Amino acid sequence: MSKPTDTIKPAVRALRAYALTPHRASVKINQNENPWGAPVRIKEETERRLAERKWSRYPDFIPVALHEALAGFGGWKADGVLAGNGSNELIQALLMVSVGKGKRVLISEPTFTLYGQIATVLDGEVISVPLNFNLEYDVESLRETITNSQPDVTIICSPNNPTGCVIADDDLRKLLGAASGLVVIDEAYHEFSDHSVVPLLNEHANLVVLRTFSKAMAMAGLRIGYLLAAPELTREIGKALLPYNLNVISQTAAEVAIELYETELRPLVQKITQERERLFSELKKLGGLAPVRSRANFMVMRSRLKPRTVFDELLERDILIRDVSSYPMLGDYFRLSVGTPEENDKLIAALGEIFNER
Ligand code: PMP
Repeated sequence: MSKPTDTIKPAVRALRAYALTPHRASVKINQNENPWGAPVRIKEETERRLAERKWSRYPDFIPVALHEALAGFGGWKADGVLAGNGSNELIQALLMVSVGKGKRVLISEPTFTLYGQIATVLDGEVISVPLNFNLEYDVESLRETITNSQPDVTIICSPNNPTGCVIADDDLRKLLGAASGLVVIDEAYHEFSDHSVVPLLNEHANLVVLRTFSKAMAMAGLRIGYLLAAPELTREIGKALLPYNLNVISQTAAEVAIELYETELRPLVQKITQERERLFSELKKLGGLAPVRSRANFMVMRSRLKPRTVFDELLERDILIRDVSSYPMLGDYFRLSVGTPEENDKLIAALGEIFNER
């Protein structure tokens, strides 16, 4: 007898759903968020503008003001910008218009799970090149794979979630030079690396850059992402977006955050990168822990104790981290995001207890 799920594509049934465990803790360092809430001045100015606006009216069909603000902020042209309901939506839209049966998507693993998952749901073939033993991009291997397989889409996350490595511009140029398909750089964490590949958009019409307001911009709850690419490409990718994908509250908050970035958000980003370096050197001192240098607001570390044990022990101490041991190459690793200085102090003390006790 046939079951309702028989109609689901076998490749989809074989996937493990991308999901997070519902644990709660007062030190929440499992999702690479900005540990501070959105600054009060940004919230107040957003609320003031929203109070003046009729909620009964749809947003503009094309959010021109936001696209222009994003263009100025990102250093690109407004007709080459798309705003999305989180950058997840833009990853999906981009893959929807480019991937189907017989199409190949190249990723380098371990990386953000969603790329491979959506490509698989869309019937694409996922090709994966491992990071090298230092958990850095293996550029030679990637270039060779691009040359030999000519993937339709190559997705590089830089800084990479979960390892924090960055692809250098010259290395990226090598990949762009070899690729006839699209090359997507997911810059969700670029603010923490003080580097962006946006200037390369001028040289390469097949480059796409993805960004988000969920990390440095402290607005994960509002779901705002954006994509920068040649206008010929954004016109096509935009066809897979739903009309009015981004609500008025989020659009307004994004505009205000851009206007107040320098005074309200940049200092928080600087604090987070300073704290990342402090965490790295403190945790390196603990026997049995080997943190990996990261250019993002999180880091992975190799652990003498089972990652699941560390997760449980920290949760008992009211600290929530991410067990990434199911990712390729990361069987002995866990990941944590950089918190506020007080949260980091608690974390350092807790890991000190856990690792020195045994
Ligand atoms: N890209 C990367 C690399 C991420 O880590 C995340 C979130 N974890 C996203 C994209 C999605 O972010 P959002 O949809 O919140 O913009």
